Amino acid sequence: MQTIGFIGLGIMGKPMAANLLGAGYPLIVYDIVPEAVAETVAKGAKAAKSPADVARQVDVVVTMLPNSPQVKTVVCGEDGVLSGAKPGLILVDMSSIAPLAAQEIAREAGKKGVVMLDCPVSGGQPKAVDGTLSIMAGGPEEVFEQVKPMLLCMGASAVLVGDVGSGNMTKLANQIIVAGNIAAMSEAMVLASKAGIDAEKVFEAIRGGLAGSTVLDAKMPLILQRNFNPGFRIDLHVKDLGNVVETAQEVEAPIPLTQEVLEMMKHLQAEGKGGQDHGGLVQYYEEKAGVKVQK
Ligand code: NAD
Repeated sequence: MQTIGFIGLGIMGKPMAANLLGAGYPLIVYDIVPEAVAETVAKGAKAAKSPADVARQVDVVVTMLPNSPQVKTVVCGEDGVLSGAKPGLILVDMSSIAPLAAQEIAREAGKKGVVMLDCPVSGGQPKAVDGTLSIMAGGPEEVFEQVKPMLLCMGASAVLVGDVGSGNMTKLANQIIVAGNIAAMSEAMVLASKAGIDAEKVFEAIRGGLAGSTVLDAKMPLILQRNFNPGFRIDLHVKDLGNVVETAQEVEAPIPLTQEVLEMMKHLQAEGKGGQDHGGLVQYYEEKAGVKVQK
């Protein structure tokens, strides 16, 4: 069995690492937060002193970090993965980062004989715990095949989309669709509530039709209960939509809907609501309309 290094033991990384341990993989871990490391060590992992120290001891390094700058530091920085890596090491970055950053990091890795896959995930913490994430991958097919059994210990599906960067491009597409869906749903339900109609009844009436969606089914019950505990934080969605804007500029693609939703999310951040679930976007409309979508 491959020995795996795991760097980034946050909301997502911790349960993903636990699933690798559960499947029997020897695991070497690192995070800048000692408590996160201690928790995973208690489940059977071994702690390393730095990303370089992780890389020296393993066949595959998995990273699950907040965004592009952290992945660049952990992989290419001082005492980073590349300074400890031997040629042939496989780097699987599962963070959601800018596709162009993923390609840049893969080029740096290539200079050291390290092959990188970008494999961001969708599904959030509950699916990270269950090991049923959707994994979207980019990179060489033969390398993907080598790590696919490991990926499927963390996910229900792992699909190779194309070359490195394609995984994160797919994740951006995912995040555009989710953000637009939440905004459309919020707009519709605030309209109904403002008109004096019961939003819960509207939900029941439309969820089986063409307007029905996974987003509607997941978020509407929470909105009706006024439960905005994360889930997926507005702060993280702003980060992802920021990566959409950056990428759209590079490839010259129009993103008018995303720009609008990003403004709404930034408004909520400025009000101190960045830590809430992205379903909390409904509050942007509610403030303007002077109504609440609730039971
Ligand atoms: P998190 O902030 O909970 O975890 C990130 C971890 O990285 C933390 O433990 C932090 O200490 C560690 N870290 C940061 N800088 C580091 C460094 N230099 N060296 C070592 N460790 C470092 O974030 P998360 O919610 O686990 O998300 C991780 C990634 O997964 C993000 O890109 C996010 O967008 C993506 N994602 C999150 C969700 C979700 O629902 N939370 C869903 C899908 C994808």
